[in-house]
Amino acid sequence: MIQQEKTNDKQDEEIKLDTIAGIGPKTAEKLKGTGYGDVMAIATASASEISTVCDIGVQTANKIIASAREMLNMGYETGLEVLEKRKKIIKLTTASNSFDELLGGGFESGSIIECYGAFGSAKTQLAHQLAVNVQLPIDKGGANGGCLYIDTEHTFRPERIIEMAKAKSMDEKKILENIFIGKAYNSDHQILLVEKAKDMIKEKNIKLIIVDSLMSHFRSDYVGRGSLSDRQQKLNKHLHTLSKLADRFNLVVYITNQVMSKPDMLFGDPTQAVGGHVLHHAATFRIYLRKSKGETRIAKLVDSPNLPDGEILYKITNNGIEDM
Ligand code: ATP
Ligand code: MG
Repeated sequence: MIQQEKTNDKQDEEIKLDTIAGIGPKTAEKLKGTGYGDVMAIATASASEISTVCDIGVQTANKIIASAREMLNMGYETGLEVLEKRKKIIKLTTASNSFDELLGGGFESGSIIECYGAFGSAKTQLAHQLAVNVQLPIDKGGANGGCLYIDTEHTFRPERIIEMAKAKSMDEKKILENIFIGKAYNSDHQILLVEKAKDMIKEKNIKLIIVDSLMSHFRSDYVGRGSLSDRQQKLNKHLHTLSKLADRFNLVVYITNQVMSKPDMLFGDPTQAVGGHVLHHAATFRIYLRKSKGETRIAKLVDSPNLPDGEILYKITNNGIEDM
């Protein structure tokens, strides 16, 4: 299975774009320059995307996509193969037993996990905690790996990492050396930081990618309803890249998300995550975070493929995330 993954990986990277039927050197250049630099990106793109970026007809774009698909092994896997893959899944600890239990053991590799909540609900605190915990050995709930931290709100604080590392008697300098922060200045930059992550992931054994927060730039860059479909298309592709990285490198993707209030809702909590259906479908686990009194925080699992919904309490102290 590992061999198979490697072959696919190699194929994807080493196939020259202009060997795909329908792509000449000019089109290949255009594709590379717009983020469709590998066969997989083309194989999973839509005809209208390819037609727009290459300035070619939709029919030609369809042919290109079809031949890219043919060049890749995009076939089925048996249930047994999927089971074998799932055995390799790492469950990254949150540092709170009850939070871990809520998630069936921790943040699962191979998945996108979304936490949404109002300001101060601990989305960023959790990001810091996971960036430390991923560096723990596997038997301690870590993944022995590094963290890629895409910071869109400029709220990464090394001082906080030091506090959390010290609380676990970890070497804080080493911990900071294994967290790679990319400050994203707008949504295109954010997309680029993820698209260029592949080499870094291999080189630095990255086991956790954080995007804090996913939507803030998308929301400010695409203002008004007219640009909403553009935004959702870009967002979709961005999430697709993240999900592909999670799957291919067996790593955890943690994204944070903002909320908005639904004023027309009469009953229940009117708070809902932004990002629409695109995000709803891309995240494997969705968790709603809330602030309670003092140090107490609430985490509610609202969507998971195989776990019951539930709610737990935990706390944030100077040491980081802890059980109540
Ligand atoms: P936003 O939507 O504004 O980004 P957020 O959900 O990311 O909000 P965080 O920044 O994770 O919120 O949480 C901030 C809260 O974490 C603070 O209000 C404080 O209660 C708590 N906190 C931060 N640092 C510490 C600390 N050193 N000790 C205890 N609690 C802390
Ligand atoms: Mg935050």
